[in-house]
Amino acid sequence: MGMRILVVEDEEALSELLVYNLSRAGHAVRVAGDGEEALLAIDEEQPDLVLLDWMLPSVSGIEVARRLRARTATRAIPIIILSARAAEEDRVRGLETGADDYLTKPFSMAELQARIRAVLRRVQPGLAGSVAVFGDIVLDRETRRIRRGSREVHLGPTEYRLLDVLIQRPGRVFSREQLLDRVWGSDVYVETRTVDVHVGRLRKALNRKGERDPIRTVRGAGYALDDTYPARVGSGGGAGGTGD
Ligand code: CA
Repeated sequence: MGMRILVVEDEEALSELLVYNLSRAGHAVRVAGDGEEALLAIDEEQPDLVLLDWMLPSVSGIEVARRLRARTATRAIPIIILSARAAEEDRVRGLETGADDYLTKPFSMAELQARIRAVLRRVQPGLAGSVAVFGDIVLDRETRRIRRGSREVHLGPTEYRLLDVLIQRPGRVFSREQLLDRVWGSDVYVETRTVDVHVGRLRKALNRKGERDPIRTVRGAGYALDDTYPARVGSGGGAGGTGD
């Protein structure tokens, strides 16, 4: 789910690491080295999420969070505080300032990415509601069942996650690297060709003879759910939507 993320961090080594990993996960990342710069960057372009270091030169992270929450235009921006302060009272203070989550340094990239996903799920339920619908395909995250029209489709765990990623952004083309990060995780080394194998399996499971293939292969770019795919005729559950 490519998001615009603002990283506010004065330790260069850490901000570089964050930029590297978050960009690889498909996000557009900007960096601010202190609180003043962060507030200016947010005025310029509102991010989907702010990763906010607590201890910053000039305006502290807590003060940045407080100011963002005090203004209508910026009140809803999700904030995750990153801090070396692990004491309970600090965490409580951070969360009471209005941060959506609080992560203690040092943290792993896998944990950070999971926290980011959890925060975005809360603030943008459309992206990760329990039921996603695309044309005649319905994916139910609670029961992990998939239907195409009236029949149930059986998918392996990798194909399931692949479909779940694609269905969050119909039409959006995901590169093989982005799919690797989202489906397999960025800590795992898997060859990009593996993506093709699993897309092949997903197609085989979804498509019966004569049915239209909902997946587009975009040469040199990657895969997408075909946004010219016909919307579902009639309505069965009508729950959710694809959130885009
Ligand atoms: Ca710092």
